[in-house]
Amino acid sequence: MSGWLAIAGLGPGDDALITPEVSAALAQASDVLGYIPYVARIAPRPGLALHPSDNRAELDRARQALRRAQAGGKVVIVSSGDPGVFAMAAAVFEVLAEEPGWAELDIRVLPGITAMLAAAAKAGAPLGHDFCAINLSDNLKPWPVIEKRLRLAAQADFAMGFYNPRSKSRPEGFGRALSVLREECAPGRLVIFARAVSTPEERISVVTLSEATPEMADMRTIVLLGNSQTRRVGRFVYTPRSAP
Ligand code: SAH
Repeated sequence: MSGWLAIAGLGPGDDALITPEVSAALAQASDVLGYIPYVARIAPRPGLALHPSDNRAELDRARQALRRAQAGGKVVIVSSGDPGVFAMAAAVFEVLAEEPGWAELDIRVLPGITAMLAAAAKAGAPLGHDFCAINLSDNLKPWPVIEKRLRLAAQADFAMGFYNPRSKSRPEGFGRALSVLREECAPGRLVIFARAVSTPEERISVVTLSEATPEMADMRTIVLLGNSQTRRVGRFVYTPRSAP
């Protein structure tokens, strides 16, 4: 039995940002599973079976991947960015105890460049001091938890990265998040909207919190909020390494 499972991050979009470790796993794979647009990034070749599936099918996808690896497959589950950031790695561990033998399989998590860090690099160094990441989707947690985390992180003066800021099925959430932030932060606080980072559609815009509107974000956008010290220099945004 020589099967294995790699849970790999493809980075934010540009193939140049895929790590050599992930490329090597993909070159050896017999099966690739993942959300449809992520599997679409994998070049077909003889001996490789592609298994795209829908967004909400994470736990089923994880089980299917484990079954294939147990049967001897060389299996890669692909996520965008990093697989451990609001992505498939945790989903695999959530089902690992369901079947005897799964936890003994050769399973590796292969990191990738997460959207937050790719976006920060494009803007300069807005995460140069302490920061946190918050998923604004309320699919897997109630809204009051999101609001509490936003409020307390703002009071602690963290810079923040917001994943999944806005979708067609959740048009209201990001506006509510902005309202909470306006209650806690000064109106001049810098906000970066980074859309489709490292792809041909990339768009980065920097505004103040008072100028930010919900329409500036969609599901391909990551939003970065500076801390109280975050500032502009030329065309760059950075956060100094020290706090007052
Ligand atoms: N595992 C991924 C995140 C998955 S959640 C990672 O580590 O990046 C999906 C969210 O990630 C999107 O709604 C968006 O907020 C963000 N995202 C992913 N790729 C992006 C990109 N190229 N540009 C901007 N935001 C991106």
